[in-house]
Amino acid sequence: MSKERVLITGAAGFLGSHLCDRFMKEGYYVIGMDNLITGSMDNIAHLMGQEDFEFHHHDVTKYVHISGDLKYILHFASPASPIDYLKIPIQTLKVGAHGTHNLLGLAKDKKARILVASTSEVYGDPLVHPQTEEYYGNVNPIGPRGVYDEAKRFMESITMAYHTYHKLETRIIRIFNTYGPRMRLNDGRVLPAFIGQALRGEDLTVFGDGSQTRSFCYVDDLVEGIYRLLLSDYAYPVNIGNPDEITISEFAEEIIKLTGTAQKVIYKDLPKDDPKQRKPDTTKAQELLKWSPKVNRAEGLKITYDYFKSLDREKLFQTEHKDFEKYSKK
Ligand code: NAD
Ligand code: UDP
Repeated sequence: MSKERVLITGAAGFLGSHLCDRFMKEGYYVIGMDNLITGSMDNIAHLMGQEDFEFHHHDVTKYVHISGDLKYILHFASPASPIDYLKIPIQTLKVGAHGTHNLLGLAKDKKARILVASTSEVYGDPLVHPQTEEYYGNVNPIGPRGVYDEAKRFMESITMAYHTYHKLETRIIRIFNTYGPRMRLNDGRVLPAFIGQALRGEDLTVFGDGSQTRSFCYVDDLVEGIYRLLLSDYAYPVNIGNPDEITISEFAEEIIKLTGTAQKVIYKDLPKDDPKQRKPDTTKAQELLKWSPKVNRAEGLKITYDYFKSLDREKLFQTEHKDFEKYSKK
């Protein structure tokens, strides 16, 4: 019997590549699609040439054609780090809007179920804490983060419209800060930024006074949540993230301890609209999916640090993240 086929967009990215691995393990035929704007073929090199995997180098904002059946579509293509979407704002808006529209059209044509990757950024700089799925958010549509936040809000909206109007089977996941191997060392997100700085012997740059909070989820836990949500019958948004909240200052201290660096923390301006607090309320995921995170931060950080240490030194010194200040001027 031929295998069920799944299309994963953003396949060469951090999360997309882990999803490809998971679906291959579950016995699916995986079609990965990516235009490599922020991703890297290194992330899926181990899958290339395998008989149950194929890769399409394609921009999903252009018409997407796949021949044959599709059981599932997972739409993960989108710049995801603040530095990326500040650098490529129009592409970020287009992949959330045109890209999602194209994939919903494909799902309708193939009678496939589609799961779209939304984000805690739909809550903006949240005034409700922790964030439940019922909270509508506090987003600045014309601020620097608006291109990402509003693209994702539009994505949720058009996905629900296809669900109600075309009776399409849809799933919406709101992903909170996730980390693990295959993050790009220079993508500007806080974890690769801090670990990269420690490995290069630079001081760790905390933005603002470091009292802002985040809640970091290890990638394997997230992938499990995605898998369970896809197979569930729930069409409304579900938060997936680790509720273990920490300030960015405390996080910097944890990285200093983990890496044993002799460097110190230095403080830089807080980027505009940087959320002051973020923590998922995961009651829905627990009740509907019987999901809760299993990997604590100490374990997850150790695995991630080992991964970054194993990279070529050349990658370590591609310090594109330093552009952040240029792109995040108030
Ligand atoms: P990533 O940058 O590593 O991966 C995104 C991938 O999408 C890249 O490989 C990129 O080349 C590809 N891509 C972008 N635009 C494309 C286009 N037009 N056509 C085809 N491919 C395109 O980022 P990630 O962390 O893996 O994020 C994946 C998804 O998860 C994104 O939709 C992001 O918004 C969402 N998300 C991630 C996090 C997180 O903490 N990692 C949190 C919330 C939401
Ligand atoms: N941050 C920091 N130093 C850095 C990079 C990020 O202090 O070198 C802060 C950033 O201002 C934010 C938090 O770390 O408050 C998380 O940033 P990230 O870019 O990882 O993701 P966000 O949750 O803001 O989308």
